Amino acid sequence: MASIVGTPPVRLRALFQDAGLRPHQARLAVHALATSTWRKGLSWPDALARLGRQARAVAEAVMQAPPGVVVRQVAVAADGTRKLLVALPDGALVESVVIAATDGDRTTLCVSSQVGCGRRCTFCETGRLGLVRNLESSEIAAQLLLARAHWEPVRGARPPIRNVVFMGMGEPLDNLDAVADAVAVMTDPVAGGLSWRHVTVSTVGVAWKLPDFFAKVRANLAVSLNAPDDDRRARWMPINSRCDLASLKAALQQHLPADRDVLVEYIVFDGHNDRDADADLLIRWLGGLPARLNLIVANPGPDRHLRTPTMDRVRALHQRLLAAGIRAMVRHPHGRDIGGACGQLAASATA
Ligand code: SF4
Repeated sequence: MASIVGTPPVRLRALFQDAGLRPHQARLAVHALATSTWRKGLSWPDALARLGRQARAVAEAVMQAPPGVVVRQVAVAADGTRKLLVALPDGALVESVVIAATDGDRTTLCVSSQVGCGRRCTFCETGRLGLVRNLESSEIAAQLLLARAHWEPVRGARPPIRNVVFMGMGEPLDNLDAVADAVAVMTDPVAGGLSWRHVTVSTVGVAWKLPDFFAKVRANLAVSLNAPDDDRRARWMPINSRCDLASLKAALQQHLPADRDVLVEYIVFDGHNDRDADADLLIRWLGGLPARLNLIVANPGPDRHLRTPTMDRVRALHQRLLAAGIRAMVRHPHGRDIGGACGQLAASATA
């Protein structure tokens, strides 16, 4: 059933019209419900109470209350990153992470799209859980509502949450329809109000779903690469056995819309993928792709062989990539001390 948190407003308006409201009545009713929920933070009964009799009857017939999703725990890191442990209606747990950039110009929310994950990357805590279930679109979008409610009273002079990345628990393309609806809600002006350019969906490289992704989701795409050749990538990321690096690149070249580039993420592991020769392989793979590259300093994870590199090695890699004309950035870990950094999300309650 539809909800004001998980169903795109454009679809709600159509539902209201199908149920007998005239177009302008449907538009006003959806606008009132969305404003009550997303701007004023009203409860569902209070949002319904603001509608006229006819619109209220229709809303009660075609919609259900938003899911009972709550923040169970908050961990605050030394760098200000906040990890929210989110309890879903069935008691399952996921994590969302609020990251305030150290330069102070943006605050980003990292959301989860699945409970656990079936892709089983060896460096990732979530992968160890296996896939438990997909999140509903409402459970994904509710993470933005919850995070804003948590962040606003504590943010002080830091910016509000205006960026969302799907880099939390789960592989978003394995739950594509729910992710598409959640992105549509988050980026609708009467609901989440984010610019689609400030939303990034990160995939492990499920290349055969890219046409569907670009047809359904208006957001940036990130691809988690992490290895410069098939041998190492297949060892760390089982997806590579189904879709190797050449196939992934070909799919990106074929399906990326003309006005978009792809953000390639490369976790740097000490001694495993950080040599000059690795940079050269990476440069070759990136050739011909409209891409930006994030070098991510590895965090301590479940694979004890894949360790944090020295910053000297990361800088050397960065310089080599820049010299080759690659648009590369170094991304420093946020929230490492609370297990809130890349690859560390495992959603376990400690109390
Ligand atoms: S890195 Fe992403 S795709 Fe891989 S196991 Fe972790 S959550 Fe899943």
